[in-house]
Amino acid sequence: MPELPEVETTKTSLLPLLEQRVQAVKVLNPSLRWPIPDDLDKLVGQRLVGLKRRSKYILAEFEQDQMLWHLGMSGSFRLCQPNEELRKHDHLIIDFEDQQLRYHDPRRFGCILWLDQHHQGKLIDPLGPEPLSEDFNAAYLREKLSKKNVGIKIALMDNHVVVGVGNIYATESLFNIGVHPAQPASTLSKLQVEKLVVEVKRILKQAIELGGSTLRDYTNAMGENGYFQQTLLAYGRAGEMCVNCETTLENLKLGQRASVFCPQCQPLKRNKA
Ligand SMILES: [Zn+2]
Repeated sequence: MPELPEVETTKTSLLPLLEQRVQAVKVLNPSLRWPIPDDLDKLVGQRLVGLKRRSKYILAEFEQDQMLWHLGMSGSFRLCQPNEELRKHDHLIIDFEDQQLRYHDPRRFGCILWLDQHHQGKLIDPLGPEPLSEDFNAAYLREKLSKKNVGIKIALMDNHVVVGVGNIYATESLFNIGVHPAQPASTLSKLQVEKLVVEVKRILKQAIELGGSTLRDYTNAMGENGYFQQTLLAYGRAGEMCVNCETTLENLKLGQRASVFCPQCQPLKRNKA
């Protein structure tokens, strides 16, 4: 599933569209998580004036209207020339002056919506801070975790605590700071929370720099693969040896998600350190 680094990478790869005017819009298949609105031709004649990312949403600002795009489980945007052959599962085509933008989504969990008050209030306003912003800091996180008795990994993946820390990033950052994924969130020491904030930011930045590949077949809008997956130390490595101590890595199900950890480097502590 595309995670924050992939969405950031996607947003960056769409920047060539900025300042270009929409020439035509064609919906091939409106069926996504929510149907693609049937009045997208309002975009025709408008220039794209801004592209931002909030959590895993891309906010596309046109001169008059704003849109909210989400890649869901398997969505991708592609910049291409109009004569390129359509692919199965291409849902939407937006013709800009110099290029064509196509949205492709085999599993159809993505969304293409207007960013109106309803969607702002329902989808954007409840989100916690961006992990790479200054609002996500140790003082903030300690305060948030102090009331939570769920495992730290579940707390870290909660979008109300911080956005965009998916399973891979939570698994890797907890491995790197030696904290067990099921340790009750409120029991982390001050030092552990400080290290966790630093580590989450470091690993997300690294993933963005490497083009953010959390999924083998993920490609950005240029059709390029990311390299981040090759750097993972714990995620996807259950049964392999820990790079630090050579203990066999174990897998634990937490909130329906695989959680790989090293029983030696990440001992479970039930009480505050
Ligand atoms: Zn170990």
